[in-house]
Amino acid sequence: MKVTFLGTGTSQGVPVIGCSCEVCRSVDYRDKRLRVSVHLQVDDKSIIIDSGPDFRQQVLRERIKKLDALVFTHEHKDHTAGLDDIRAFNFSQHKDMPLFAEERVLEQLKREFAYIFADFKYPGIPQVQLHPITEEPFEVEGVPFIPIRVKHYKLPVLGFRVGDFTYITDANYISAAEKEKIRGSKVIALNALRKEPHISHFSLQEAVDLLEDLQPEKAYLTHISHLLGSHREVELELPDFIRLAYDGLQIEV
Ligand SMILES: [Zn+2]
Ligand SMILES: [Zn+2]
Ligand SMILES: [Zn+2]
Repeated sequence: MKVTFLGTGTSQGVPVIGCSCEVCRSVDYRDKRLRVSVHLQVDDKSIIIDSGPDFRQQVLRERIKKLDALVFTHEHKDHTAGLDDIRAFNFSQHKDMPLFAEERVLEQLKREFAYIFADFKYPGIPQVQLHPITEEPFEVEGVPFIPIRVKHYKLPVLGFRVGDFTYITDANYISAAEKEKIRGSKVIALNALRKEPHISHFSLQEAVDLLEDLQPEKAYLTHISHLLGSHREVELELPDFIRLAYDGLQIEV
């Protein structure tokens, strides 16, 4: 499986509009972070997790010509705002786009993108096929997904384990039982917002502690704020097996 980090930034992205901090002024390409998303290529299947506001730009940058399905972790705008741009795939693939999400998330998509679900559909709008998911394992176009229940302050969010890769974003609590589902993953991508504690995201230290407990061969931190510090400097402080993800990073798992 090939994993491409389409975006690794928190909800505002990095740089932040109007901010002139050192990270936002950095010329290091790894300090330019679009909103969080990953592309999974498993055999001939192409799957994206979350379609944030930068979806179009990310798909163009990575030259993703084919998309078989979208899977959502939760309903926050930084994970869903780009949904309208799946139209391009409807036109080129001549079929509805399968969307996999929990019932609560699908209901929110119906409210925020009411025109997609209207009885009278304006020509050219996105065409979707809804697949409600739960905490039970499911398949996306034949690719097995194991959902991992995590908490994002009070909001229940899903992470996903696909083979030896686990992807968790927007979490600040994972129960012991859910950690067991992650254990044994060769590669884990986990959110780490900044050094200071936060109400709904793991801090850098919390993420490092969790990864030291789970002991993957390799881990990548994502959903990163400009407040975390520069890519180069933060990586120097991390154990060798933990790196910061950056936009465009590709790994084989
Ligand atoms: Zn988010
Ligand atoms: Zn800044
Ligand atoms: Zn969120």
